[in-house]
Amino acid sequence: MATYMKPCVPLPIDAKVLEDVSEKAKDWALMHGVAMRSKQNFSKDSVTFAPFLLLPSTFPRPEFERAVNIQTVLNTLVHRVAHDFEFLRSSLSNTIKVDDFTGRLFSIYEKVLEEGITQGISLGLLRSDYFIDVPQFAVKQVEINTVATSLAGVSTVLVDCHRFTLTELGHRDKLKNLPENGALAGLSNGMLKAWEIYDRPTAAILFLVEDVTFNICDQRFHEFEIQKLNPDVRTIRKTLTEVAFQGTLDSEKRLFIDGVEIALVYFRSGYSPDQYHTNTEWNARLLMERSRAIKCPSIYYHLAGTKKIQQELARPGVLEKFLDDPADVCAVRRIFTGLYSLDQGEAGDKSIEMAIENPRKYVLKPQREGGGNNVYDEEIKDQLEKIRNTPERDAWILMEKIQPPLQKNYMIRPALSEPLYTDFVSELGIYGVIIGDAETIIENKYVGHMLRTKVSSANEGGVAAGWGALDSVYLV
Ligand code: ADP
Ligand code: MG
Ligand code: MG
Repeated sequence: MATYMKPCVPLPIDAKVLEDVSEKAKDWALMHGVAMRSKQNFSKDSVTFAPFLLLPSTFPRPEFERAVNIQTVLNTLVHRVAHDFEFLRSSLSNTIKVDDFTGRLFSIYEKVLEEGITQGISLGLLRSDYFIDVPQFAVKQVEINTVATSLAGVSTVLVDCHRFTLTELGHRDKLKNLPENGALAGLSNGMLKAWEIYDRPTAAILFLVEDVTFNICDQRFHEFEIQKLNPDVRTIRKTLTEVAFQGTLDSEKRLFIDGVEIALVYFRSGYSPDQYHTNTEWNARLLMERSRAIKCPSIYYHLAGTKKIQQELARPGVLEKFLDDPADVCAVRRIFTGLYSLDQGEAGDKSIEMAIENPRKYVLKPQREGGGNNVYDEEIKDQLEKIRNTPERDAWILMEKIQPPLQKNYMIRPALSEPLYTDFVSELGIYGVIIGDAETIIENKYVGHMLRTKVSSANEGGVAAGWGALDSVYLV
């Protein structure tokens, strides 16, 4: 028997009312920038509304609060892990032999260590993602992202769209259950704080972007917010390829792009192998890492966010190395679900057997970001049979599958002629900001949240691709 969460208003909605409110909501979304460039009809002159849920989805308040309250501890954990060379090296030592992408990131890390780190300060704009797991009805962490964490801009705005739809439907009394969301201002303030620390009034913030940006509104919201919060700060956008050709370091290793000094490099690209077309882009990454500019993320923050590190942190006794307070260790352990190394050896063999016997209980994950890379269900068997006798298995980890509760709602998507009424599951994202160096943490905060909801039968819920959509939380 599937477990259902009660929707925030009685469903289904009368057909005529539904048509009216969903048309209004679409225009509300478009007019307020809950939007992206269309993959089908790409044009720099237009955007379409992003897929979203008509109503906010119910989320249990105590579990929301648990996720919020633990964020600063997770920020500290990532920060300390990122500064522990020996831990990163030993945890990733097998992975980097077989996973070329992680290997190349790691060799940049080694190069800058050898040369001496020029900029000790890192900015972390993190997002820890969770599902509610049905058996305990508690939040379980899917992953923590340290690079190019997105959707804070559009998610912040969507909360107001949900206020609009609830009001339209005559449920103003429910607005109090939508928590404030300061994600956009919080992340933007984090970038501004890094800019201030860099302390050069004419320096700019570089947004390192993809060759083609579909999720443009989300990125622009950050640029616009930065100008609103501090009109003295300029932002510029460049791709990895452009940085390779236009970027230079001066004698103090200050980074200049086309004559503009860069205080902070904010990565919205560079997390996926296909974004590095040739060595040119890798040279750009190395150039930025060697520079005095603050990076979000620095190379070691990037490595600290890999799936392999997540799995290593779940080993007995490891959290204790990084967190001083046993209560924090307990709280973090509580949000972890089963994570297993597949590295060659007896323990890895056992994990492979376990997954082949019961593939539906697990998710098989490579060291990749951005969605669409994991293996599910029966395909886990095929993949494991293929790699079990090769070193390539060290590039993967196995994770227990979280079983979230279902919930009815209406999904609105550009390609659908009418709202899709079906069973959905929701993934909560909690944003954290941390700034500091190896010795000191200067700032450490929870700043906001987001919710992504997907059709319950879909394995992954990418918003731009797949059956995922933007959503917001309705606390009960
Ligand atoms: P990525 O870095 O590509 O986002 P994730 O680990 O977040 O990788 O996996 C992508 C998606 O796969 C998640 O958003 C979630 O929908 C699904 N997923 C990942 N791990 C699990 C899990 N343990 N249980 C259930 N679903 C999962
Ligand atoms: Mg994810
Ligand atoms: Mg990720």
